[in-house]
Amino acid sequence: PRRRLVAGNWKMNGSFAHLGAYMDALVQRLTGAEAACDVMICPPHPLVSLAVTATEACAERCQPIAVAGQDCHGQDQGAHTGDVAAGLLAELGAKAVIVGHSERRTDHGEDDATVAAKAAAAHRAGLTAIVCVGEALAVREAGDHEATVCAQLAASLPDGATPANTVVAYEPIWAIGTGRVAEVGDIAPMHQALRRTLEARLGAGAAALRLLYGGSVKPGNAAEIAAVDGVDGLLVGGASLKADDFDAILDAY
Ligand code: 13P
Repeated sequence: PRRRLVAGNWKMNGSFAHLGAYMDALVQRLTGAEAACDVMICPPHPLVSLAVTATEACAERCQPIAVAGQDCHGQDQGAHTGDVAAGLLAELGAKAVIVGHSERRTDHGEDDATVAAKAAAAHRAGLTAIVCVGEALAVREAGDHEATVCAQLAASLPDGATPANTVVAYEPIWAIGTGRVAEVGDIAPMHQALRRTLEARLGAGAAALRLLYGGSVKPGNAAEIAAVDGVDGLLVGGASLKADDFDAILDAY
């Protein structure tokens, strides 16, 4: 069985002060009540180092809380103003990095090849790449969602992706930040299709690769989504910003 993962993607939210209060609250809640899943937070890059320090400081009282970046460049270093190297995230103590989030794909025009290059850079740096895929509303309404998202996944995975260095997150764009949650009947077939794509792309070893769901996951729906066949964890946006809500979502496992 695949170890579940719940990751909180803070997006462009949070602050120095927020991080401190958040970590105190989360650690307090997890002390003596270990979540039966891996726990990860993905703060904005300027907070990564502080987040790592905070999680390390509580490592004796509480289960590990991994820290991840929200993006990295596809090259290891160089003249790319404003971009962040995967190797630097690793040096700061991050264990993973999100690549190909739909907001990056939309805001910054990232295509599948760019995402695959970023995931490969993450792998070179020893980071787990959390590769995001998901369809726009028009694609779902046209009935093309499975073919579209599976093609996106196949093209967004670099050679050398393994269950140890890669996690995939299915995030339907129409369910992100909208409060409109995908139904179990939307999620389960997509996860089955993505699992077949993983097997075709990576071979039998793909069975151990974790496939998350993300999009308007909240304390009130997390348990139902977490129980969907083929869902190996959750990528949480807005509801991960409050430690209480995030902890309540961890309770889904
Ligand atoms: P929300 O949970 O805010 O819908 O965001 C989901 C997401 O994009 C996580 O990466």
